Amino acid sequence: MLPRCRNPYTGQTAAVTSVLWLRRDLRLRDHPALHAAAKDGPVLVLFVLDPALLRPAGAPRVAFLYRTLRSIDADLRAHGGRLVIRRGNPLSVVPRVAREGGATSVHASADFGPYGSRRDEAVERALKDVAFVRTGSPYAVAPGRVTKADGSPYKVYSPFYRAWLDHGWRAPASTITGRVDWITDVDGIDVPNDPRLPAGLELPDAGEDAALQAWRDYRRTRLATYPDDRNRPDLDRTSRMSVYLKWGAIHPRTMLADLGPRDETFRKELAWREFYASVLHHWPASAREYFQPQLAGMTYARPGTKAFEAWQQGRTGYPIVDAGMRQLLGQGWMHNRVRMIVASFLVKDLHIEWTHGARHFMRHLVDADLASNQHGWQWTAGTGTDPAPYFRIFNPVSQGRKFDPDGVYVRRWVPELRDVEGGKVHEPWTLPDPPSGYPDRIVDHAVERKVSLQRYQDVR
Ligand code: FAD
Repeated sequence: MLPRCRNPYTGQTAAVTSVLWLRRDLRLRDHPALHAAAKDGPVLVLFVLDPALLRPAGAPRVAFLYRTLRSIDADLRAHGGRLVIRRGNPLSVVPRVAREGGATSVHASADFGPYGSRRDEAVERALKDVAFVRTGSPYAVAPGRVTKADGSPYKVYSPFYRAWLDHGWRAPASTITGRVDWITDVDGIDVPNDPRLPAGLELPDAGEDAALQAWRDYRRTRLATYPDDRNRPDLDRTSRMSVYLKWGAIHPRTMLADLGPRDETFRKELAWREFYASVLHHWPASAREYFQPQLAGMTYARPGTKAFEAWQQGRTGYPIVDAGMRQLLGQGWMHNRVRMIVASFLVKDLHIEWTHGARHFMRHLVDADLASNQHGWQWTAGTGTDPAPYFRIFNPVSQGRKFDPDGVYVRRWVPELRDVEGGKVHEPWTLPDPPSGYPDRIVDHAVERKVSLQRYQDVR
């Protein structure tokens, strides 16, 4: 027998309750799926700790997720609700919780990733008579919506961006937290303790309030300089909002609504996230396979080499590469320009296939996102959506000199080079007295560049 409740959101008496199954939408504001759930009846808010998603994640990402969950639970409790947490396969957990809560509907923000969309179809079937309702998504425009006039998907960013702008997006949804009737009397487990983090690892504050505060601070202090300084890891002028977008602690639409005509550069970056989600939606296999299949036959070095380990640990002897790889281990995050430099170095200087680097990033990044990561890697490897040719090969020394001109970024992350002044830090091997403790270059970029071009010629 279902409880008869007066729905304070609609004012109607309903014999239904609903489950709001949170996934990549860990917030209470600007939440269309919460609106849809609250229209159905009192809401039970559920999060499932799915081992399939937790297994590949490193400790920093898991810790940041747990902190985000604690934060949303506290926000719900402040409004008389709570977060019900269960561990297991959503295929069995979601129908069970729906049964226990007497729900006639399960609401969620749509997931467009390869795993998430397959999982949701299976959960929908398992729910049988309970409706599975998808409302909204982690994107301003749901993947699949922006297509060419003939309905085919875009493969190139710039025309996608223009079409995405033309399509437009909705205004942020209103906040209804205080008007929802929450269901709390269903069992759940506590958020697990954080896994042990590497010593000294710095994580930003987690949760929706932290995300909104970070976004407010960024707009006030650094957004105006974004077009000039976004490529400078030494200045650190990007927003670092990716960690919040990852779990949906803030919706991109909330951010877009705050941007003005002068913020075109920033809007374009958010559009890259939407573009890659769209590409992955249309070509799910591109998470693993070459977007440009003609390059799949290229020969590569085996990843089990010392060179791969040196790259992972930030001990290649190329300071900008090593600084980036150490930032990844030290913060679970890396500046975008440096992500490109280290990715190019792995594929085009060490000749190791992009998939190995992408996997390392997915494990260590707090913002790890399958679409942005795999396509960021394919873009840099020259196998992805970028129409620029394979032979764009980043020179780690000139990139360092250009984007970290005084060496501030390198010295921050590579203590062995702390006493080397200015831009000289990018070529320690040219110093009359090279600093001790810092490794020699494991390869010669000029030589490996030629090898890379030859490998490309061989498959053309
Ligand atoms: P900002 O410069 O402040 O940009 C604002 C937002 O725009 C970002 O938070 C992000 O959501 C989006 N954005 C910016 N640049 C890109 C881009 N090139 N592609 C897609 N979205 C973008 N981003 C991830 O979120 N997760 C990943 O796993 C990831 N892996 C990457 C791997 C490689 C090899 C490369 C080259 C890029 C990768 N990116 C990834 C994209 C980009 O590096 C990060 O989004 C960005 O560095 C996050 O920092 P920020 O929030 O300060 O970015």
